[in-house]
Amino acid sequence: MSATLPAHARDDLVEMTQAALDDVRLERLRAQTALLATASPFYRERLRATGPPTTFEELAHVAPTTKADFLGAPEDFRLRLGSDAPAEEQALAYLIYTTGTTSGRPAPLYITAADDWAYQLHARRCAQILGFGAEETIANLFPLTPFPMGARIRTDRTAAALGTALVQGHTGSAHPDWPVHRRLDEAIDLVHTHRATVLWGVSGFVRRFVIRAAERGVDLGHVRWCFITGEATSPARMADLRARLTAAGADGARVVDRYGSTEGWSMVACDGAHGWHNPSPEDIYLEVVDPVTHLPVPDGEEGALLLTHLRARGTALLRYAVGDVARLTRGRCPGCGRIGERLLAPPVRTGGLTKVNGTLVNTGAIVDALASVSGLREWRVATEYATAGQELSGDALVVEIAPEPGVLTGDPSALADVQARVADLVRTQAHLAPTVRVVEADDIFTPTRETKPRRYIERRVPGTGGAA
Ligand SMILES: [Zn+2]
Repeated sequence: MSATLPAHARDDLVEMTQAALDDVRLERLRAQTALLATASPFYRERLRATGPPTTFEELAHVAPTTKADFLGAPEDFRLRLGSDAPAEEQALAYLIYTTGTTSGRPAPLYITAADDWAYQLHARRCAQILGFGAEETIANLFPLTPFPMGARIRTDRTAAALGTALVQGHTGSAHPDWPVHRRLDEAIDLVHTHRATVLWGVSGFVRRFVIRAAERGVDLGHVRWCFITGEATSPARMADLRARLTAAGADGARVVDRYGSTEGWSMVACDGAHGWHNPSPEDIYLEVVDPVTHLPVPDGEEGALLLTHLRARGTALLRYAVGDVARLTRGRCPGCGRIGERLLAPPVRTGGLTKVNGTLVNTGAIVDALASVSGLREWRVATEYATAGQELSGDALVVEIAPEPGVLTGDPSALADVQARVADLVRTQAHLAPTVRVVEADDIFTPTRETKPRRYIERRVPGTGGAA
């Protein structure tokens, strides 16, 4: 299934020496931070006392920029370039938005023409690493949301950069005044009509897309690649998706877990399983730092992941904490020979820890483990008060499951068996007995309405009730 590389595919990250990369990065760091010190309202303040860093050692002493800094005042991160700047650096190409937080509005990222072109070069590098060529037909399965989602627009830009064909799924929450969204089945029909070879979307959505196609008997044998993003994955989840693809006729499809963020770009693994590559080390600089001192930790050690834009001209970030814990190495890849940072393990979203009746529970680990339970269409973990609304009634760890239709309509013992396996697994993981509740799949995740499944929900609201 080797794909033909596009004609432009000179693999510069293999040819480049470390010294040459270091030189380019240092030159760009100096130009970028000098620009931030005048053109960025946020960094003008932050760098006022010290002046712009001129080496990566000096950069390591600049305070990280937090998500709260950026989401709280996104306009302060937009560069104000003078009229003498090149046209492509001044011209706004488009806006994308962060996926937002549970509390805040999504923040806009300004993308100039130069930023868009840089992203297109990045998309080509990703394709080189994956061995992915212009002959593909990409199905963009990211939803059409009111705040344009970075991943959806970047998928289009990737098709443009590589010269592939493109099919738009265009699903999303239906709007009464703007009836432009397609239903899931319409998106499946389009993907099949155009014999799309690449499914690209949020992993939970792609999974439901494939399940629904299999249910309708739509043969996805034309699919050769499945790019998933937006949710933490685990070996169990990858295995589940491969099994779902096989059931839909796409048994040879290669599943690629792309790690990325709206503020940063995507990282992809090469064939050799040597971690996720930073495909654009000239434009994005990565650090893993101690969460307290914010100084870089030695290669291979765990810490908070920070990214620095070395050549951004719209929205520009310096030492931005993406909110993930990661391990990183800077050596040349022993598999493919490329240079640039690699993340050594799937980054872990921070914030998966909570307490249930005083016991620390990693809800993220439970969510991952549940992916290995066969017979589940959807699943979700929730923490609740044992009696709804009654804080003093104690806590309950709840697992909501939506079994496969066959489990519900078949032998009655099949459902009891699934429930027992779920309860056993949670007891093993968390040393707590969960309440297992059976719900509808769409109660957990409605693919046409939500961007991605929320696999964990906190329903306890302190101070809202007395004793039961
Ligand atoms: Zn590699």
